[in-house]
Amino acid sequence: MSQIKIINPYVDRISIYKKIFYKLKFNKLTGRYFNNDKLMSWLVLIGSNIKGYELKKKIKKFYNKEKFNLSYPKFIEIETINKCNMSCSFCPTNKKNDIRKFTIMDEKLFKKIIEEISYIDNEVLVYFHSNNEPLLDQRIPEFIQYAKENLSNTKAILGMSTNGTLLSEEIFLKLTQYLDILIINNYSENMQLIKTVKNIYKRYRYNEFTADITINLRNVKEVIKNVGGNSPNYSYNKPINIQCLLPFEQMVIRPDGKISLCCKDVYGQYTLGDIRYETISSIWNNDIYNNLRKKMRLGRNNIQLCSNCNF
Ligand code: SF4
Ligand code: SF4
Repeated sequence: MSQIKIINPYVDRISIYKKIFYKLKFNKLTGRYFNNDKLMSWLVLIGSNIKGYELKKKIKKFYNKEKFNLSYPKFIEIETINKCNMSCSFCPTNKKNDIRKFTIMDEKLFKKIIEEISYIDNEVLVYFHSNNEPLLDQRIPEFIQYAKENLSNTKAILGMSTNGTLLSEEIFLKLTQYLDILIINNYSENMQLIKTVKNIYKRYRYNEFTADITINLRNVKEVIKNVGGNSPNYSYNKPINIQCLLPFEQMVIRPDGKISLCCKDVYGQYTLGDIRYETISSIWNNDIYNNLRKKMRLGRNNIQLCSNCNF
C-alpha cells in the first residue's frame, strides 16, 4: 500500500546533469536544460555510447541464450482508441498533428487479447495506453476490470498512463481498484497541477492505495526525444546508430489489432502481425519480427524508422 507520489522529472534529471556540469538552467520556452546544439550533440553522444554499450551486452545475451525463441514480450501496450485530446508540442499524435484514421477497438478483440495474455506464464507488464489518451475510450475502466478479473491467476502487471484531463473521482477510484500502476502525466505550462488532477490529489493524498500512483509534473512544451523522427518540435534530428531493445521486449497493439514496430512507431508505419487472426506467441516469433531483430542487432540504421529515431 502506498500514497500518491508527485514527481518532477526535470528536477531529477537536472541533478544528474549537474554532476557533469556546474550550471544548467531550465529554458521554459524550449523545455530543454540547455540551448546549445553542440552541447546537445555531445550529451547525446555520451548518452548513446553508454546506452549502446549496455544494450549491446543485453542484446548479445538475448541472442546467445535464447536465440530467436523469445517466448513472450515483457511489455504489451494495448491502444483501444487512437486519439488524444491534448496538444503537447513534442507529440506526433497530439490533436493537431495526428494523421491516423480514427479507430476504436472492438470489445471482442479486447477480450481476445486478454485471453491471449492469460496464456503468458512469465511476468508481463500490460499497459492500457500507447499513443493516445486512454480515457477518451469510456469503456476503459470496465475493460481494465475485465482484464484484472481474467488475469488474476497470471503474473501480469496492469498499468495505465493518462494525461489526467478526464479523471473524475469515480473513474480514479475504479482505475485504482484494478490497476497495479497508474501514471498521471500532468502536462501544463507552469508545472502546476491541472484542475482534475488537483481535485484528486487534494481529496486522496493521504489515502493508501494498492496501486502505485505517480503524478508526473510535465511541461506541455517540452522538447524530448524525437519519437521515431516524427516529433513536431524536435530540431536536433541527428540519428544515433546504436541498437534498441524494444523489438526484443515490447509489443504494441493498435485498435484494429495490428502490431506496430514499437511505441515510437506512432502512426503504425510497420505491421508485424495481426492479433485478430494470430496468437501473441506466433506473432512474437514470426519471420517479420525476427528479421527486424536481426537487422537491429547490426544497428538501428538498418531499419528505416529506427534510422531516424534517437530514443
Ligand atoms: S503526449 Fe500524451 S497527452 Fe500529450 S498529446 Fe501526446 S498522447 Fe496526448
Ligand atoms: S523506432 Fe526503432 S529505434 Fe526507435 S524506439 Fe522504436 S525500435 Fe527503437
